[in-house]
Amino acid sequence: LTYSRKSPGLHIIHIAAEMAPVAKVGGLGDVVSGLGKALQRKGHLVEIILPKYDCMEHDLITDLKALDVVVESYFDGRTFKNKIWIGTIEGLPVYFIEPHHPAKFFWRGKYYGEHDDFKRFSFFSRAALELLYQAGKKPDIIHCHDWQTAFVAPLYWDIYAAKGFNSARICFTCHNFEYQGTAPASELASCGLNVHHLNRPDRMQDNSAHDKVNPVKGAIVFSNIVTTVSPTYAQEVCTIEGGRGLHETLKSSSKKFVGVLNGIDTDAWNPSTDNYIRVQYSADDLQGKAENKDALRKLLKLSSSKVTQPLVGCITRLVPQKGVHLIRHAIYRTLELGGQFVLLGSSPVAHIQQEFEGIANHFQSHSHVRLLLKYDDALSHLIYAASDMFIIPSMFEPCGLTQMIAMRYGSVPIVRKTGGLNDSVFDIDDNTVPVQYRNGFTFITPNEQGLSNAMERAFQYCIRSPESWQQLVQRDMRLDFSWNSSATQYEELYERSVARARATTRV
Ligand code: ADP
Repeated sequence: LTYSRKSPGLHIIHIAAEMAPVAKVGGLGDVVSGLGKALQRKGHLVEIILPKYDCMEHDLITDLKALDVVVESYFDGRTFKNKIWIGTIEGLPVYFIEPHHPAKFFWRGKYYGEHDDFKRFSFFSRAALELLYQAGKKPDIIHCHDWQTAFVAPLYWDIYAAKGFNSARICFTCHNFEYQGTAPASELASCGLNVHHLNRPDRMQDNSAHDKVNPVKGAIVFSNIVTTVSPTYAQEVCTIEGGRGLHETLKSSSKKFVGVLNGIDTDAWNPSTDNYIRVQYSADDLQGKAENKDALRKLLKLSSSKVTQPLVGCITRLVPQKGVHLIRHAIYRTLELGGQFVLLGSSPVAHIQQEFEGIANHFQSHSHVRLLLKYDDALSHLIYAASDMFIIPSMFEPCGLTQMIAMRYGSVPIVRKTGGLNDSVFDIDDNTVPVQYRNGFTFITPNEQGLSNAMERAFQYCIRSPESWQQLVQRDMRLDFSWNSSATQYEELYERSVARARATTRV
């Protein structure tokens, strides 16, 4: 338990279920490493605590080793030993918790989707706090993420602060309010929380089921800082339509609730240094982009006969949130408009996966459409680099990273105006936005007509005004989507909260 603070910065601990590139399912993984690295660069001591999953990419962890200590943590009326591992991921120190529990919580060959997820992650949340407590750490900020580590907030204030482990303020970030981890109230007892005390409307009780507890609600109530991943999404979740039952809870926590737009990892996503792509390129030299387009077409056996034929990309989890019916529509509309379409995506929902397998088979040897129904990080880089346009017709989108990555690779986004898409993509024809900020094509109405209209405008612009299109591509590539400004906002939130706490203890 080796790290101690050397700089005058804050000591920040992230407790999370994902961290890119070692254990990543979605945007949460990118945020933990991107935000962590940016805060470390600003001089803060940042440490991460993760479960030690059997299925994570062990090769990407530097100097992984087991520590000599065993941490015992409480669960279901007794204590269990945890083996603690330490390693470095992209320069960040990471602790991995390996529970010695007969249920083998993190030996399941996958990250989520097990029948006992509530148990697995409430165990992990408790063990992570126990690790910090037993190591004698005195962090300024403990930052937990999503329902899986939301338990940290009530555990900290109800159990650990009482033991004198109370140096920290708790920050909770909800990356998607769709997932709240609601479960029968009795299950909360396993990790040592008091069900009777917490299953109350003003604490952890789910707002629509009195016999259930809601970890996300608990973290909202018990944290000092609550954030979500874009300003527009923060507003949307305070409405009855967008809040997934938590709008009233969020409204009454409005003083501590804020939306901070995520950044992207501009080292990992950089067309001028990217080793996955065929030819590296930059806004000043777009020839390489054309070569990547040609290479992808050959790789996927698509027609290369017309260099200027627009290539539309889409990289996504195929879940209802992402507007799967509109993605399907976009494939056919692209063909009608004379373009090519490449989809990289996979679905945890069996009927959606089946439906897209049917479409993939239909277009198996088509010259202008290819569907690749899998998760493939390397291939995603090729598609960002090769595509001219990038489609994101989400029903809702807390932040969305793919629009920012696409722009960095010179692929112009066509998006539905919702959540973080609304905060990062501004329509070429929107006169209310200064010209220099206009960077893509947007639509509001979540139907085929809305999407078609935006796609038609994009195709017209690309085909009829190639020079202006090229300027748009260059402008998009030069936009700054790094973690810098978002990390500064988190830094300010942390510092204000720490200062408030110090002022109160002094009184
Ligand atoms: P979400 O977190 O809802 O899945 P985001 O846009 O925030 O959506 O993040 C998606 C991230 O996952 C991006 O980095 C994107 O490139 C990546 N991604 C999504 N689907 C795939 C896939 N099938 N193969 C490779 N990368 C993918």
